[in-house]
Amino acid sequence: MKIAILRIGNVDMDLMSEVQNGLRRAFPEVDCVILGDTMPVPQDTYNSRRQQYYSSRILAKMRSYVPQLDVNRILGVTQVNLYVPRLNFVFGEAECPGRRAIISLYRLKPEFYGQSADRKLFVERSVKEAVHEVGHTLGLRHCRNSECIMFFSNSIQDTDNKKLGFCERCYPLVVKSLKVF
Ligand code: ZN
Ligand code: ZN
Repeated sequence: MKIAILRIGNVDMDLMSEVQNGLRRAFPEVDCVILGDTMPVPQDTYNSRRQQYYSSRILAKMRSYVPQLDVNRILGVTQVNLYVPRLNFVFGEAECPGRRAIISLYRLKPEFYGQSADRKLFVERSVKEAVHEVGHTLGLRHCRNSECIMFFSNSIQDTDNKKLGFCERCYPLVVKSLKVF
């Protein structure tokens, strides 16, 4: 499997390298590249009443930003505040199963919660969200194990509680899914 990381709007390149390494570690035999092109944040996905961007609509627009034909997964990364209609916000969204996933860094920095900056924690959270959403593209659904990466994060505490890996029930599903390629 080959994953392409697509920056949507202005996103820190060093962080993208960390996410790239995290994805390589989490998934066996996966290649991960960072696309040189950046996708501008599509302004027609902005909801001025909510002051947030509609994540599903951004996801739909990502297809045209994958130049390599051999890329079979695309992970969009953005700093903007994402939502879907039934929720106050989302950390990310993915086609399940499918090819496209997106994560938002908006709520991952400790500063968002009034805490002091912590680069290591920010990176760890970003990798966790990336692995979780790519897991969805492989067809994995939410897991009941609160320590599993596929557990649904309702708050940043849920994300921090998870381990950076799949539980013993989910990991075989990842391996099974990857054998398709
Ligand atoms: Zn999820
Ligand atoms: Zn699990």
